[in-house]
Amino acid sequence: MATESVHTVAEDLMKAAKMEKCYENYILIDVGANLTNKKYGRDLDSVVQRAKDSGVQKIMVTGTSVKASKEALRLTRIYPGTLYSTAGIHPHDAKSYDEESWQELCRIVQNTECVAVGECGLDYNRNFSNPEDQKAVFEKHIKLAIEHNKPLFVHERDAFSDLSEILDKYANKLPPVLVHCFTGSVENALAYLQKGYYIGLTGYLCKDKSDTGVRKLLVDNLIPLDRLVVETDAPFMYPNTRASKLPTNVKEGLTERSMTFLHRYCTFQRNEPCSLPAIVEMIAAFMDKKPEEVALASSFNAMKLFGLT
Ligand SMILES: [Zn+2]
Repeated sequence: MATESVHTVAEDLMKAAKMEKCYENYILIDVGANLTNKKYGRDLDSVVQRAKDSGVQKIMVTGTSVKASKEALRLTRIYPGTLYSTAGIHPHDAKSYDEESWQELCRIVQNTECVAVGECGLDYNRNFSNPEDQKAVFEKHIKLAIEHNKPLFVHERDAFSDLSEILDKYANKLPPVLVHCFTGSVENALAYLQKGYYIGLTGYLCKDKSDTGVRKLLVDNLIPLDRLVVETDAPFMYPNTRASKLPTNVKEGLTERSMTFLHRYCTFQRNEPCSLPAIVEMIAAFMDKKPEEVALASSFNAMKLFGLT
């Protein structure tokens, strides 16, 4: 629970840049973990400690509802300098929007530990809320982010055109945008990058079976390193490194150290932030880069984008 100043992490990043490999650990920032999920109700201290031991120095706790956003903010007070929060209503819950609780969300966003507005966006994959409700609530988040000049933490599933259309309406005043847990096509990613958005990658890359998705993006080096951030989306998106379709060079890029954290503590039912080193090693292998390079770039981007201190 030690408080770390931005100074320390920034210095570590610089040292690591100069002396690659001198550090046993990567220096990582998990920009999206759902640590308010009840699956962490009993042992959050251990989860956070394991994350730190694995090299994950800072974690952004995703706010997916007004209640979860409030709880996420509370957690940042328990782990200052380690946990940060976001505040938003997941598109699945757009139907439960009400004016009164929205006002509460607006108050949560004003705290400095709350570093982004979201998650918010559109999810037409499951349509738990109807698209019209989703669009209306998403626009409210965009206006809120603009008002407070905080980055937008965006969730998009099978809703590329509608989401782009809405964001484009605000193009000239938008704060930085992160498309978190990107699961779309190369074409969609290139369009997002073209607009200046950041891309967040998770263990989803173990699931991607398409020839035109996340893996292709990485293999063809289409995401500039200065636009990439990494996240676990824990307890979801367990990176299944045993997936048979994972290329040999990617499997070989996984270190014993990251595998130990992954296999000892993470499962399909409950992924943890300490799986992030394994995810970064896979991203790096797909990109044919060193994991240290991907770690450094993504951590630097996260600090800059969200102003983590
Ligand atoms: Zn999401």
